[in-house]
Amino acid sequence: MHQDTLCLPVRSASADGFASLTVPIHRASTVTFPTVEAYQNRREAIYDGYSYGLYGTPTTRALEIRIAELEQAERALVLPSGFAAIAVTTLASAQSGQRVLFPDNCYDTIRPFATTFLAGLGIEAQFYDPAMGANVISLLEDSVALLWVESPGSVTMEVQDVPAIVRAAHSRGVKVAADNAWATPLRFRPLEHGCDFSISPLSKYLNGHSDAIMGSVAVQDIALYRRLKDFSRYLGMGASSDDAGLVLRGIETLAVRLDRSEASALDLAKWVSNRPWVRALRHPAFPDTPGHEFWSRDFSGSSGVFSVFVDPRVAAQIAPAIESLQLFSIGASWGGTRSVVAVLERMPPRTIEATRHDGPIIRFSIGLEHVEDLRDDLSRAFEAFDAAYAQKDKLAWGGSQ
Ligand SMILES: *Cc1c(COP(=O)(O)O)cnc(C)c1O
Repeated sequence: MHQDTLCLPVRSASADGFASLTVPIHRASTVTFPTVEAYQNRREAIYDGYSYGLYGTPTTRALEIRIAELEQAERALVLPSGFAAIAVTTLASAQSGQRVLFPDNCYDTIRPFATTFLAGLGIEAQFYDPAMGANVISLLEDSVALLWVESPGSVTMEVQDVPAIVRAAHSRGVKVAADNAWATPLRFRPLEHGCDFSISPLSKYLNGHSDAIMGSVAVQDIALYRRLKDFSRYLGMGASSDDAGLVLRGIETLAVRLDRSEASALDLAKWVSNRPWVRALRHPAFPDTPGHEFWSRDFSGSSGVFSVFVDPRVAAQIAPAIESLQLFSIGASWGGTRSVVAVLERMPPRTIEATRHDGPIIRFSIGLEHVEDLRDDLSRAFEAFDAAYAQKDKLAWGGSQ
């Protein structure tokens, strides 16, 4: 053979006798077949086997198996992001003329997705009070195709009575999908509480190192899995093997990372809650967080994310104080090794307004740094809030207070 041809591998090294503890990263666009017949029947392989890199590799399948085990699910499908998992689940469940219910405290990208994209397809979105529990049945008209829960909800952290909502939905033949970002399957498993779909934004705690974007949907019903897979194919969505390898590695330390973040977050949240300028502390393990009783009943623990509702009279101190933090980075995503803080000028958009708060909100995601170092860092920043609050009556506050 010519050297040119020898540049192209025909034979590969044998892997016999090589047993490692890691999952190999298999990269592929083309997948080859031993026979013409196998090639011609490749479509059926998109669900369980291998037909084309977009539809699965041994690495992405290994991740799907790992997630199905964690979720106590029959099957899981990995998608390029947590939001892709939400979009595919919604599009595979509802069609033109039907309605989808979202909790009012849902992940923020859902609102434009619902009001612009779904509306354009003739699918109506309705936002409901996350505290409705079984009363959600009053909204379940025949046109409702899917009901979403997100518990606790984004930023304001209300915990939902998921089993009661599931019973109401199933009594009307409506499927329930859960966005389980905060809890992870280690703290709450939606399928065990009757949900039909459990979504994990793998970008958060499961990958856990802020370096990959991926999402998953877990289900008990193989027909639902096949439908989700079909829709991901129609939308051209697949998952990268390299990223799946990162997530597989991240999951190996999920339990210890979550334990550490949980303990530090509880410690810091308790400590912060005593500050005079804290109007409310939202953490599902805190008794005055709405739905705390459902968290106590249904969850096996907590994670590292909580929100602080801040008195508007210290608003002017927030930016300089937060920017002065050494161990917290300012950012939106969370669930990584490093502590992150997000500052919202005011309540995120809500339709129902079940939660009223007229000041800023600071959301913390506590990472793996030593809790004493985090407390020291925050202490310095909070001194500015304490001083401003002590002066509050002298401050000419120009807001609507
Ligand atoms: C981050 C997040 C998502 C989206 O996950 P991505 O992987 O970033 O697309 C969805 N829902 C909730 C509640 C989230 O926090």
